[in-house]
Amino acid sequence: IIARAQAPLDASKLIINQTTTPKQKLPNEKLVFGKTFTDHMLEIEWTQENGWGTPVINPYHKLQLDPSTIVLHYAFELFEGMKAYRDSQGNIRTFRGDKNMIRMNKSADRICLPTFDGEELQKLIDKFLIVDKSFVPEGNGYSLYLRPTLIGTTESLGVSTPDRALLYVIASPVGPYYSSGFKPVSLEATDYAVRAWPGGVGDKKLGANYAPCVKPQLQAAERGYHQNLWLFGEEGYITEVGTMNVFFVFQHEDGKKELITAPLDGTILEGVTRDSVLELAREKLPANEWIISERKYTISDVAEKAAKGQLVEAFGSGTAAVVSPIKSIGWNGQEIEVPLAAGNSGELTKQVAEWIRKIQYGEEQYKDWSRV
Ligand code: PMP
Repeated sequence: IIARAQAPLDASKLIINQTTTPKQKLPNEKLVFGKTFTDHMLEIEWTQENGWGTPVINPYHKLQLDPSTIVLHYAFELFEGMKAYRDSQGNIRTFRGDKNMIRMNKSADRICLPTFDGEELQKLIDKFLIVDKSFVPEGNGYSLYLRPTLIGTTESLGVSTPDRALLYVIASPVGPYYSSGFKPVSLEATDYAVRAWPGGVGDKKLGANYAPCVKPQLQAAERGYHQNLWLFGEEGYITEVGTMNVFFVFQHEDGKKELITAPLDGTILEGVTRDSVLELAREKLPANEWIISERKYTISDVAEKAAKGQLVEAFGSGTAAVVSPIKSIGWNGQEIEVPLAAGNSGELTKQVAEWIRKIQYGEEQYKDWSRV
């Protein structure tokens, strides 16, 4: 028996099948997140036997799956969320896609789906962006949201390692999260459900992590809050907000300020925006005035700081909005008010949004974070 080597993902084999029925493009003001898609999609099939197949850019189409397909029963599915931006010269840029590729491979490995060379998928995404370039909207805050997805396609009800998979990428033109300046959000601290736990999969971008999180968000909304704040454990450790990472700023008695977010202990999604905020804060904020911390902290710590007038600001971070200012947190029968020193956000929140926007739109170069 001669074992056949599994083929690696190879961007140079790409085939492009152009659409013959191009879609009508929506004007910028009509764009709604994730509702309309570009003319094409990128697809690569994988089999246990042969490895990665020929990458193909096809006209956007529906998938045809047998009702027994393993993804539909046991949630062999993972995804990524990243964006492409049009700069002032008309170039299309992606932001730190290498981080998304690393995270995607970690997710794939955890649920026995095939891994791949991230640079090859990035090259294919580049090609896809060239084909559908005209869908990348122009203007500050506008972008093309990219959704790389990997599903197990084995046709069987057996719970087992998928021997077939499909990696595809679709793209949706999106408008700014905040069309007219920041809108700070009110949060309800959720103490009756947990998003993630030690030894679990909360640090992986699996579809299975998201469906159970909608109900607590709905319940927060029924009580008049915009979003929910995820806590963990008896201590009430702060983990994430909705589907974003979360940061707080504390004023310390020695005069220093602390920018704080939960550590990557397996219960936190490794946000690309979170990582970018931390790195830029360490790079740009004066070290004699600021402490940048990844450490555990609790909702009681936040309530105590607020009571002493030492809570400076708070914000969520994620690809969709970059940063989302927080104005209050309902917890334990009280409302913790978060100051908004810059009007609709804190001062640092505003600064961070600008640092990242400039890199995303190619107005400022920072390392290799923006790829043309
Ligand atoms: N946490 C969760 C649960 C998320 O789904 C996301 C992404 N939407 C984030 C954090 C933020 O990650 P990123 O900065 O990579 O978008």
